[in-house]
Amino acid sequence: MQVCVYCASSAIINSAYFEATKALAKLFVERDIKVVYGGGSSGLMGCLADEMLVRGGEVKGIMPKFMNEVEWAHKQLENLELTETMQERKTKFLEGTDAIVALPGGTGTLEELFEAMSFKRLGLFTKPILILNTAGFYDPLLDMLERMVEQGFMNEEHRQLYTVFSEPEKFNQALEQAQPWSSEAIKFASARIGNEQA
Ligand code: AMP
Repeated sequence: MQVCVYCASSAIINSAYFEATKALAKLFVERDIKVVYGGGSSGLMGCLADEMLVRGGEVKGIMPKFMNEVEWAHKQLENLELTETMQERKTKFLEGTDAIVALPGGTGTLEELFEAMSFKRLGLFTKPILILNTAGFYDPLLDMLERMVEQGFMNEEHRQLYTVFSEPEKFNQALEQAQPWSSEAIKFASARIGNEQA
């Protein structure tokens, strides 16, 4: 199994986020799950890669060349793929992945997460998208997504675009909980009055 992890580059965040990242990496290694991530060495990205490597797990970074040129890449990665653009990197994140996991992060993490959810809404991506809501970090965002459904910006079915879990140890349950998604999701992608089932 291969998962793609989106997470923070910042290192000046609460230690709870680092602890959760380490616990998740431990679980990935124990279950032989390969990780693909942004290739960075700082923040939760660095923490994830360090923990995977220390435990003998398989981890691959995908990073645009310009970031590598300013030495943002994790130096110990044996598998680092360089792309020309940010867009190409995001496309590669989705290729061959069995699931996406978003950990707490900033604009970069949200950009990646929302592109994946938007693609899924259109049926261009069908795999589980899991959000690790450590210490309630994502609560305001989850409220916003709920507001989008309530106010007709998305349909009821779009609640199934993502699955939230609060503890890294519940990764497998979250994965099982994620509803299968149709590659024909474009048929119910447009918001409609009444939100009736497709
Ligand atoms: P954020 O969630 O905003 O910290 O964004 C994480 C994403 O931002 C990464 O995937 C990169 O695209 C980019 N990024 C920002 N700063 C760095 C950094 N110091 N090292 C690596 N990537 C970074």
